[in-house]
Amino acid sequence: MEFLPAKSILQKASHGEEWFGIDYNMNLYKGCPHQCIYCDSRSNCYQIEDFDRVRGKENEIEILNQELQSKRKKGVIGIGAMSDTYNPFEKQYEITRKALKLISDYHFGVSIETKSNLIVRDIDLFQKINTTSDVILKFTITTADDTLCKKIEPCVCNSSERWKAMEQLSNAGLFVGTLLTPILPFLTDSEENIKNVIRLSAENGAKFVFSMGGVTLRENQREYFFEKLDQLFPNLKEKYRRTFGNQYFCCPFNENLKNVFEEECKKYGLLYKMKDIIQAYQKRDDGEQLSFL
Ligand code: SF4
Repeated sequence: MEFLPAKSILQKASHGEEWFGIDYNMNLYKGCPHQCIYCDSRSNCYQIEDFDRVRGKENEIEILNQELQSKRKKGVIGIGAMSDTYNPFEKQYEITRKALKLISDYHFGVSIETKSNLIVRDIDLFQKINTTSDVILKFTITTADDTLCKKIEPCVCNSSERWKAMEQLSNAGLFVGTLLTPILPFLTDSEENIKNVIRLSAENGAKFVFSMGGVTLRENQREYFFEKLDQLFPNLKEKYRRTFGNQYFCCPFNENLKNVFEEECKKYGLLYKMKDIIQAYQKRDDGEQLSFL
């Protein structure tokens, strides 16, 4: 794996309260090899060249150590927004694991989103962090159909394996749930799929299911997605074009589907509103969080 020069690792989260209450963001890797056909990080606006190729960052653990040491305000660090931090290179390099050790040492919290079951390797560290700070772990799961999953998320473990990992994390006493995002029009937007994802999440220890509803289709991401649709689902691209034109956000979440989503979450006692999820996992009571709520 190539390592790129880096000046800083940790960034202040600009809209953290809107995204799982995170205070800081970091991406320990650049690029992601999981090749999800809808990946938003592929969009030109993020300027990640050669997105499928994973690169590390030179001295990133040393840099992170200094940054954490110098932060006066503790908080939750989000990992994996632009690149799944549990990519296959992580097995060998353990960059995420080393970062989690620092997060634990400096008493920060952590919020991770992943599609990989490699995350269970770090259960011990999540438990340790959880004794002093906040931990929230999210599996992105878009379909309950493993065959479809292998088509749209080809290079990472399938949905069933993610649910197995979710169960392990839940049994370890960790706050875990599902990101049902994106919902792909004509592919994963059936009532049956929404219901199955929610049910299986509940059965495997999820505390929440959160969904953004649709899929972004921005410059470069759109071209890649349509190319994959042509390869995998003939004629579907035309259907997207007819239905959504050039919209950059394609959302099949109509009132009916939204009701189905909410009713199913309520049925299984799962949280689905962002403010409720944040309130449930964060231990802090410092006024700052309460003012947001
Ligand atoms: S795992 Fe996430 S970052 Fe990686 S390709 Fe899939 S959507 Fe993109």
